[in-house]
Amino acid sequence: MTKLKKGSRCTICKAKGEKEKAVVFLPHHRLALCKKHFVEWFEKRVEKTIKEFKMFSKKDRILVAVSGGKDSLSLWNALNNLGYEADGFYIDLGIDQYSEDSKKLSIEFSKKIGRNLYIVDLKEEIASIPVINSSTNRPACSACGTVKRYYMNKYAKQLGYNIIATGHNLDDEAAVLFGNTLHWDINYLKKQYPVLREEGGFIRKVKPLCKITEKESALYAFFNNIEYIEYECPFSEGASSIEYKELLSQLEEKHPGTKLKFYADFLRKMYPILKEYERKEQEEIKICKICGEPSFNDICSVCRLKGIIEKASTNN
Ligand code: SF4
Ligand code: ZN
Repeated sequence: MTKLKKGSRCTICKAKGEKEKAVVFLPHHRLALCKKHFVEWFEKRVEKTIKEFKMFSKKDRILVAVSGGKDSLSLWNALNNLGYEADGFYIDLGIDQYSEDSKKLSIEFSKKIGRNLYIVDLKEEIASIPVINSSTNRPACSACGTVKRYYMNKYAKQLGYNIIATGHNLDDEAAVLFGNTLHWDINYLKKQYPVLREEGGFIRKVKPLCKITEKESALYAFFNNIEYIEYECPFSEGASSIEYKELLSQLEEKHPGTKLKFYADFLRKMYPILKEYERKEQEEIKICKICGEPSFNDICSVCRLKGIIEKASTNN
């Protein structure tokens, strides 16, 4: 992306006999593109990924997990432009200024594209992330992931959506894959697919940006004048996934295409083997005895978290 040569022409314009200058260079795709053709390329790539993994069709009702960041807003914009029925879902995590700023940007964006944005306040459902973090010994991001998945699934069903789309990009997926491979974490590896099928009360979850890099998603947001939150959540500091991202980016710099190959080859060569394994080891989906939501245990992790938080507040 950084090595755009001065005066380079857009590859697509050139093929059409036009002379538009390129503003973006995608080394691993060997493409230099002007603004218009980059936006087109991005949306075509998203559409191709949706089709490749049979994620959803124009008949489905999609709920996009919106965080106010570049990936979720770019995804929402692209789905809307591609003609999908996609609304937004924002969870106010109660993380001070970060949540206030990201909520404001998400609301503004939903108004701009004229689609619904549902907002759930975590404080009213269970507790804010800082409170959950101080009441339990679980890392903030792990508890945050659990509650986000739970409320997203619960409300998507209630609101009549059958697909949840998240903005995980190629850098996220490659970093998680790298971490799971370093630890040979089979239980996570076998779930690392861009589509998690619907079953036993869980609705289908998809990642249409899984073949789009972080930089591509930031550029798409920039070219579409999408205002997004540019600073990180304060709890993300020190996360190992950030180190993995940096390592992979160093490799990518020297060998363009490394991230995509690492991830795409996993999906093509390794995932089918793990899927076979999963078929034999399938976990039973139960119904939580307290809230009635799907769970792998008698009591779901959110109800267990609620119990821990209540206990901590009565002890204080
Ligand atoms: Fe939640 Fe962690 Fe992401 Fe912050 S960085 S929003 S705590 S998962
Ligand atoms: Zn429960």
